[in-house]
Amino acid sequence: MAYHAGTGRQPVCGGLFPGSDLGHKYFCAEPTGAAPAGLSAAPTSSGPAAPAGTPRHPMEPDRPIGYGAFGVVWSVTDPRDGRKVALKKMPNVFQNLVSCKRVFRELRMLCFFKHDNVLSALDILQPPQIDCFEEIYVITELMQSDLHKVIVSPQPLTTDHIKVFLYQILRGLKYLHSAGILHRDIKPGNLLVNSNCLLKICDFGLARVEEPDPSRHMTQEVVTQYYRAPEVLMGSRHYGAAIDVWSVGCIFAEMLGRRILFQAQSPIQQLDLITDLLGTPPLSAMVSACEGARAHILRGPHKPPSLSVLYMLSEGATHEAVHLLCRMLVFDPNKRISGSDALLHPYLDEGRLRYHTCMCQCCYSVPSGRVYTRDFEPEAERPFSHSYEQSLLSVWQGKELIHRFITEHQQGKRVPLCINPQSAAFKTFIRSTAWHSSKVSRKEER
Ligand SMILES: [Zn+2]
Repeated sequence: MAYHAGTGRQPVCGGLFPGSDLGHKYFCAEPTGAAPAGLSAAPTSSGPAAPAGTPRHPMEPDRPIGYGAFGVVWSVTDPRDGRKVALKKMPNVFQNLVSCKRVFRELRMLCFFKHDNVLSALDILQPPQIDCFEEIYVITELMQSDLHKVIVSPQPLTTDHIKVFLYQILRGLKYLHSAGILHRDIKPGNLLVNSNCLLKICDFGLARVEEPDPSRHMTQEVVTQYYRAPEVLMGSRHYGAAIDVWSVGCIFAEMLGRRILFQAQSPIQQLDLITDLLGTPPLSAMVSACEGARAHILRGPHKPPSLSVLYMLSEGATHEAVHLLCRMLVFDPNKRISGSDALLHPYLDEGRLRYHTCMCQCCYSVPSGRVYTRDFEPEAERPFSHSYEQSLLSVWQGKELIHRFITEHQQGKRVPLCINPQSAAFKTFIRSTAWHSSKVSRKEER
């Protein structure tokens, strides 16, 4: 329902990232000077290059800004408009069929997303001839920092900030889940923020489509340990969107207390810390657990819940905040609140109002006030389809499919981009690979 409201509220983020502290560890955008004029020369064998005769624009790799699970992100200047953007290199794509499928899935997701709180692809660099095609380069919006850096920084994090961040995390998550996508690695470092407090969920290297068939096994090598849901810690072979909601609950508590809620040394200790807070779970909450995990819980002493300690996280841990937190940190995934239901909690009313009063792209101002969108938290227009994956049987076939996908994606768009091999950072950029290569990439992932 559209309605009007006054525009008297101040922007929420004034002073959150003051002056030069902006993204201090994140190598925020800085001018690198004009990109070389003219079109680049013949294709190189090591970098992305266009087929001979294709007009293209060389880009200057500037500096690395982050390392995800399966890729390296650099800050670059788009020579077409001088805009600073992020360039993600997806290396080792064609090492084996598993990595080929995973990268293609991530690439298709980045091109599928159309939501302000989810990072999406602005462009893909032109691939070389298929024989030289080894890496994929995706351009996304450049964000100045991430929630991890904000939480560990000395910058103030007020209740207003927490509400507007949490609102955006859940708004993005509702969209992802409505598309049938599980992120599977929600953590503060994967929540990019800029100086206006806009937040975008990123890094879909572990994301996958929800598995409707409970008899199909899914990998447990997901989610950074501190944010891992109890059902995954307990070895459940099938899980759903509730694992992402658990992660968001942990992040909510971390924003309130400015420290990691469950910071354990091992997965077993992680589970112990969770039961210290929530109490020993009933058997009904452990039906999908593996035998060993269930035995571990039952062997230990019976623990009563101690949820009242959540009130001691900070002054911001009001009754309303703790109420919502306790709905997200529920041991039994079937009883945990969903992302879309969490958005209906009164704690998020102010975050919603602030977001749509001065931060969003979906509402606009007229002299008489603000015209609000009809749908504050939109769902995806259609589910993300992964039916192509069944027919992907070889690395070469995957290579052809991805090459065609990128070429078709670019058709009718702006002048294609490539990396300028003359730039000072080119050699480092070409050599840079993923920070760590997850075990998932070498195993059959589900
Ligand atoms: Zn809006």
